[in-house]
Amino acid sequence: MRRRGLWACLIILGMLAGVGVTMLSRSWTTPAKAAAAPAPAPIDAARAYGYLKAICGLGPRPAGSAANTRQRAMVAAHFKKMGAAVREQPFEANDPRTGAKVAMANLIAAWYPERTQRVVLGAHYDTRPFPDQELDPARRSLPFLGANDGASGVALLMEIAHHLDGLPTPWGVDLILFDGEELVYGQEGEYFLGSKAFARAYDESVRSRRATSRYVAALVLDMVGDRNLQIDQEQHSYNFTFNLVQEVWGVARRLKATAFRNRIGMAVNDDHLPLIEAGIPAIDLIDFDYPYWHTARDLPEQCSGESLAQVGRVVTAWLAQPRPQQR
Ligand SMILES: [Zn+2]
Repeated sequence: MRRRGLWACLIILGMLAGVGVTMLSRSWTTPAKAAAAPAPAPIDAARAYGYLKAICGLGPRPAGSAANTRQRAMVAAHFKKMGAAVREQPFEANDPRTGAKVAMANLIAAWYPERTQRVVLGAHYDTRPFPDQELDPARRSLPFLGANDGASGVALLMEIAHHLDGLPTPWGVDLILFDGEELVYGQEGEYFLGSKAFARAYDESVRSRRATSRYVAALVLDMVGDRNLQIDQEQHSYNFTFNLVQEVWGVARRLKATAFRNRIGMAVNDDHLPLIEAGIPAIDLIDFDYPYWHTARDLPEQCSGESLAQVGRVVTAWLAQPRPQQR
């Protein structure tokens, strides 16, 4: 994700928040009543952390690399074993240095594929090509493992996959690994290639009336493994998808998930923005206050299974909240 460089159209929409929020929120219902208080899934913190370490064990995983493909295959096999219908969504992009074609793919694992009202739980699975935030230029040639920025979201999805079969949610659930979130070598470049490809395909299927299901919500998980986890309400999410932020933070309060702070954080451009543009109410769960961001020290020891588990409990309890009549 990027710290700066807001999309112009989104800034304008943000300024016109009264209109934008109303329009985008309309498909989102009012928060469930307090009486409905389902328990979270029994998320296994140690197992989630084990997945994070296994992913890092593959080495750096930038888009187009062999390790990136190995990770996709590993996670696909896991999702299948957990009962999902799994497919790849291939697309191509250009290497920003050479212009050469790079083959990429999102991974989409569907639970309850017959349900027409669906939610996305998504995370990017590629890693930054090198640790560009290292101050010492010599350290920029060190491998970037992306334990938090890359592996944490995927590891949590792998753990959540254990709990979806039988989870009392009214929705179909798609766990999605986005490729090409940051195949970027300087600060400028095209980000979010995977979520853009996904959003484009969805938007086209809706416009052409071929879509057999609709997405009613999306939670993007990014940098959710910091052992000092603090998740603010990311500003674009707050501006564009306020009701969903309120729902998720309401669940966090009820579960005493103290990593979720009741304050608006910085605006982070991330994979939720292309989804919002495609009409999917989406929010980004991200702890951007991470000292090892884009450095060679973004390693498993900076992360914890308990942080992953806290987010997993909130996400699964949110999924299981009884809903008013389907929208
Ligand atoms: Zn990053």
